[in-house]
Amino acid sequence: MANPSKRLDSNVPGNFYVDATCINCDTCRQLAPLSFEEIGGYSAVSCQPGDTDQVHHAYQALLACPVGSIGTEQSNKSRLQAAIGSFPLHLEDGVSYCGFNSEKSFGANSFFIDHPDGNWLIDSPRYIKHLVEAFEQRGGIAHIFLTHKDDVADADKYAAHFGAERIIHQADLEAAPAAERVIVGEEMVCIGSEFQVIPVPGHTAGSMALLYRGRFLFTGDHLWWDSHSRSLEAPTRLIWRKWTLMDSIRKLLDYRFEWVLAGHGDRVQRASGDMHAHLLALLKRREKRTGLR
Ligand code: SF4
Repeated sequence: MANPSKRLDSNVPGNFYVDATCINCDTCRQLAPLSFEEIGGYSAVSCQPGDTDQVHHAYQALLACPVGSIGTEQSNKSRLQAAIGSFPLHLEDGVSYCGFNSEKSFGANSFFIDHPDGNWLIDSPRYIKHLVEAFEQRGGIAHIFLTHKDDVADADKYAAHFGAERIIHQADLEAAPAAERVIVGEEMVCIGSEFQVIPVPGHTAGSMALLYRGRFLFTGDHLWWDSHSRSLEAPTRLIWRKWTLMDSIRKLLDYRFEWVLAGHGDRVQRASGDMHAHLLALLKRREKRTGLR
């Protein structure tokens, strides 16, 4: 719950505000980019939401904020309920963004895949009644894919409730030691006919991406879209091994995908040829900057 006495001066006057507990995770700026901006190391409301859509997105941001730093001077209950009901937020082809980002994963995004052979959760949102019921209505969760050790959040609670198998890489096993399926080594692993698990060590030793239907690439903190530079980006800090990260970026050139769905950073959809060109451009920039090939 945001505290009006901690309202940041950087907010413009009006109903929505960010308080000083903000951890600058970027979630609100992804959900409501017309209302929230980064100012002085925090998010702030730079433009009060004007029309119905913008208000809806601002309420979605309020709910997704992992630390409850977004508040309103006057809450609109029906708008709030509509925003709650919008999560999981459907993106395309049965793939949804869960919302309700967790402080345990520094506000990482998590995703849900509705699949006839059993549904998937990719990383974990907060364990809350609304999402548990929403997942139940969609047939539960069969698999929980953990991209890396930092974004596990409440995966154990969802696994216990739904009897789901957790999938994690051996090198990051410390974050989910009781995981039911452990991926070993750096070779791609197929699960069923539509899921490819691709180890991409670099950010952490056990980072993995999940490619679904040759279209949706879930990347954790390995790769994301930067909407300011309009380019794909990869970590420049908090890196386990720089040269391994480069190899893991290069490895993805062997795959075609249209969506990048990241833990931190924006999600994006592009034609697979464009995405390939963006990935190649990222690699070239990195080679130039680091001198590593
Ligand atoms: S979602 Fe919350 S914690 Fe994250 S940047 Fe926005 S206000 Fe700050």
